[in-house]
Amino acid sequence: MRILLSNDDGYFAPGLAALAEALAGLGEITVVAPERDRSGASNSLTLDRPLSVRRAASGFFFVNGTPTDCVHLAVTGLLDKLPDIVVSGINHGANMGDDTIYSGTVAAATEGYLLGIPSIAMSLAARGATHFASAGRIARTLVERFQRNAPSQPTLLNVNIPDLPFESLGDIEVTRLGKRHKAEGVVKTTNPRGDTVYWIGAAGGAQDAGPGTDFHAVAQGRVSVTPLRIDLTHPDQIPVVRAWLQT
Ligand code: MN
Repeated sequence: MRILLSNDDGYFAPGLAALAEALAGLGEITVVAPERDRSGASNSLTLDRPLSVRRAASGFFFVNGTPTDCVHLAVTGLLDKLPDIVVSGINHGANMGDDTIYSGTVAAATEGYLLGIPSIAMSLAARGATHFASAGRIARTLVERFQRNAPSQPTLLNVNIPDLPFESLGDIEVTRLGKRHKAEGVVKTTNPRGDTVYWIGAAGGAQDAGPGTDFHAVAQGRVSVTPLRIDLTHPDQIPVVRAWLQT
């Protein structure tokens, strides 16, 4: 089995090293990750300059681009053969609800999925998360499951793991995405040269977080697995917009 790993926190991130370590022995592992933290990069491709690929002492490849660039160039040119699976992460922090729209971790997995490869995004759901080994064991379990019994349909899974010792983790729960409150406003401040600058504010707290959501599962200490799709069409609004256009 050929396994492609990437992330959005950068090729040096402990979560990525933990992922590679946890999956060791399951197949031929290649790591292609951004050269710096690109959290929040979403599904962006770099189109205005060429990309360079270099190799770190760890053997990991790193790219001066986005998570999407990494998976795209790995799959469409860098690797001799297509990977059987793409695993992204382990992200330092949750990717639940609306986070998935902005997440570079989810984007790296999405790129694999869009290129026809089963893909998994892994996130350790805590600020300053520490239990990467727990998340690594979950990643290994999921990849082993793919090896044993590949799903019949193309699959994109978004996985969030509570930041707990492995023995304290609850079961795996298949969930839907919850929703967050509106993000906090930008923070206006002054840089050392006296210019006004703005920091994007923090994500909002969980709002739609009832049973069945990713937020709920993680709050209960369970591992959340959400199958994602990428079609952004709002089918219910097709007749509504059609009618509106005729008014
Ligand atoms: Mn990140």
